[in-house]
Amino acid sequence: MDPVSRGTFEEESAQSTWAILVAAGTGERLGSGRPKAFAALAGRPLLAESLERLDSSDWVDAIVVAAPPEWEEPAILLAEELVASKVTAVVTGGATRADSVRIALAEVSEEALVVLVHDAARPLVDDAVIERVLGRLDGTVEGVVPALEVHDTLKRVASEVVVETVEREGLVAVQTPQAFVADRLRAAYAADLAGATDCASLVERQGGRVAVVEGDPRLAKVTTAADLERVEQLLDRSDP
Ligand code: C5P
Repeated sequence: MDPVSRGTFEEESAQSTWAILVAAGTGERLGSGRPKAFAALAGRPLLAESLERLDSSDWVDAIVVAAPPEWEEPAILLAEELVASKVTAVVTGGATRADSVRIALAEVSEEALVVLVHDAARPLVDDAVIERVLGRLDGTVEGVVPALEVHDTLKRVASEVVVETVEREGLVAVQTPQAFVADRLRAAYAADLAGATDCASLVERQGGRVAVVEGDPRLAKVTTAADLERVEQLLDRSDP
């Protein structure tokens, strides 16, 4: 399906930071009978939370949403309901997250200087983390990722038996939103996407430098129904 454009976008050339919100996953492990982005979080589709937060961020100029196949119209209606006026296109996502990012990237203006890629599955994105990743993109690196230290002992396991205990020193758990110099992200996504679990890994493969800034425990990814409940509780406690 062709991307669905919304509204006129006369000021496109003036827009420098574009956000890609990937929401096209199936979310089978959530078991809600619908794509994860449309599972209910506090009475709204999960996608609403991150979309609203990105749209209201002064750091973000325009947004492209990757929606699950057959869910493009609900995504557009949701953006309209939220008056998310920065949404310029809703595209049909691909088979993998990397495919979804590539498809969405094609709708990002050539004039964009920076692209911020965020998982809709991490609803509680806020300006503080957006500011941290964008602030570190200072010309010395091509990408920035938020990450948390790993505190648990890590083990590699095969057939439910430990193969090795992994040295924890220097390991971090990486989240989104991830920020990139637009041209470097485009070059990374023009290459082979096989095995890419996040955008930064593709930039790294091409020799790009990726900096790490402090992540946010509230950005934990929603995978299971229990995760959804946990995020709902965090949402209750967060500022309106
Ligand atoms: O499946 P997982 O939770 O790891 O996906 C991370 C993010 O990537 C989610 O927001 C999901 O909607 C998105 N995704 C996508 N297209 C896919 C698979 C995942 O946009 N084919």
